[in-house]
Amino acid sequence: MNHLAVPFKLVLVGLVAGLVVGSSGHTRANFSTGECTNAAITMSGSGDDGRAEGRLSYGDGHTSQHAVKAPDVLIEICDWQGGAAGAASVSIDDSCTSCLDILRENGFKGTYYLSCTDQFSTADWDMWRSIYAEGHEIGGHTTSHKSCHILDEATLRWELSSNRKEILTNLGMPEEELSSFAWPSGDSSAASRAIAGEYYVCARGYHCNELEDKNPRDFMNLRSLNTPHYHPAVYDPPDYFQKADEAESLGKWVNYVFHNKCQDDGAISYLAEKDLWVAPVGKVAKYIKERQSSGITDIVRTDSQISCVLQSSLDPRLYNEELTIKVRVGRLDAEAVLVNGNLTSFTGTTDHITFNVQPSGSDDIRVVKSGIPRAGGNDVSEPRQDPNGTILRPLRGLEKGNGAVINIWISGQARLDNLRNHRIKYLFVDVGDTQRNGKIGTPKEQIVAFLRLMESYEKQHGYDFIILPYSEINTYNYDVNHQFRKAFIADYKRLISLGFDGVYVDIEPVRRDQEKDYLELLKNLSAICPEGTILGVYAGSVSDYGDDNEGDNEWQWSLSFYRKVSDVADLICVPGYDFNLPSKADYEASIRNQVRLLSDGGFNSHFMFTVPTHKRQPETIENALSAYNLEVGRHPRHQFIGVCVFAEWTITPPDWDVFRSGT
Ligand SMILES: [Zn+2]
Repeated sequence: MNHLAVPFKLVLVGLVAGLVVGSSGHTRANFSTGECTNAAITMSGSGDDGRAEGRLSYGDGHTSQHAVKAPDVLIEICDWQGGAAGAASVSIDDSCTSCLDILRENGFKGTYYLSCTDQFSTADWDMWRSIYAEGHEIGGHTTSHKSCHILDEATLRWELSSNRKEILTNLGMPEEELSSFAWPSGDSSAASRAIAGEYYVCARGYHCNELEDKNPRDFMNLRSLNTPHYHPAVYDPPDYFQKADEAESLGKWVNYVFHNKCQDDGAISYLAEKDLWVAPVGKVAKYIKERQSSGITDIVRTDSQISCVLQSSLDPRLYNEELTIKVRVGRLDAEAVLVNGNLTSFTGTTDHITFNVQPSGSDDIRVVKSGIPRAGGNDVSEPRQDPNGTILRPLRGLEKGNGAVINIWISGQARLDNLRNHRIKYLFVDVGDTQRNGKIGTPKEQIVAFLRLMESYEKQHGYDFIILPYSEINTYNYDVNHQFRKAFIADYKRLISLGFDGVYVDIEPVRRDQEKDYLELLKNLSAICPEGTILGVYAGSVSDYGDDNEGDNEWQWSLSFYRKVSDVADLICVPGYDFNLPSKADYEASIRNQVRLLSDGGFNSHFMFTVPTHKRQPETIENALSAYNLEVGRHPRHQFIGVCVFAEWTITPPDWDVFRSGT
């Protein structure tokens, strides 16, 4: 729905536990307290990334994969967001508010670790809410600030969970944002790190005075530099400036830590001069874990584009940092970047471009090259103009996904669950009959009740549908005159204002002598669709008679008419039934022919293929899907965004099974 920012509902403790166990594999030797320091000694002289030669195994299977890069790699995931050479974080412990001004001056966000004892100043929750609202990270630091390595398990769990609860409650913070922890006094043990890993994505250590590697050997004991002038001189950190230089030159992560004062002597501002990604601790840790759990596959390079798939395995609800992708194609050679069909901004040099992708599991990436005539599918287009100079809707990427036709009288959790469980993204909603005057007959209250139902369902399940209303009009039953069109357009405008994500036009058939009026109607509708909404159209099937001889079947559209409609509509749903063919072979051949014609046609819109669940043999969902999949596989165009089930009220459980295995 168009007005929703659907919050994710997570039971974080369980979720994080699963993820951390599933992803870390950090089962290294059990060091005593102060591991960070010990490790510093052990590690001296070891290779980059903490890969010690021979002596220690960190159990991090990802390290080598990302540590070694061929210089001419075409596509890669950058070590740090934005393609920076290294990373830097500034964290402030013990509920102190130090460094805010300096961070603000530089546009940096810090990490503030809160304990909840009287000794510290968490009591001022209004202030912390505003610091959090400003974009700084808030992290946990236990309730009582005791050294954790000597606590029994129950006490440690209480320290962690009561501190979490107090922060979450008082800040009104979603669980997944409280992902970063700092060990009081830097004290931890293997056992306490394992337990804290059930509550947090990462934990920052202390008293080790070291840079962290780009692949940390232990996310639950991240290395940091001590606070300057805070402890006896023996614990003082190395030179902050020099460490920032090293982070940049060695591709590492420098963590500055402050307490009650921000005696940085200008070191924070110095970070701005370096090629370092400055971000809160939790963000950087999430980025690294995502990078380690992602890979680039299916790289295909053609004259017109470079495509690949970003595969990732972490739960995107928690791991929601954008990964930066680098492609070795010069800035001037790249015309556009599409991620899952959506235009994505990018920056670049003469040597390469970079852009950000928030990994969702499997993301389709395409870099469209410029200066090359576009064949067929027009992967990207400039704003289009019709011959009269009117600017029509520019092609923008639509989210890939499947659809289903439903009606606004849908009710019952189970039916909506079915749609969600089958990852149906687009809902084409029959909102009732259009009357002869062009107005939709269904009372507004009923439409609003439907939207309320969908809104609460989406919120409850953290799921976002794209919902487009339609009302079928058969041109043999209606006089689609000027008055009719005016009322029709006004009604759709009202529907968008109520919360639909656009409109879906279902006028059929478009008779030959009505084509011009129909295009005019679409242009008028396009004009009332605000930026970001979708103008969808239910089409005729594709005629292969050619443009000169269009045949006499007005339920078919010629390719040239398809092209004109595609200049105005964002999405065209192509019928995959009512072919009246006798055999399965004929039916499948016909569907494949439809896909082939649209693949080669040079269209400016996206297509969704409609598959039947209400017809008899041979027009079954099974036959339709297999033919569609076969042909789309041969013409990989991002313009085919999915298939649409017709309809939700005729689909049976066996049909859903076919849908599941065929999509
Ligand atoms: Zn502390």
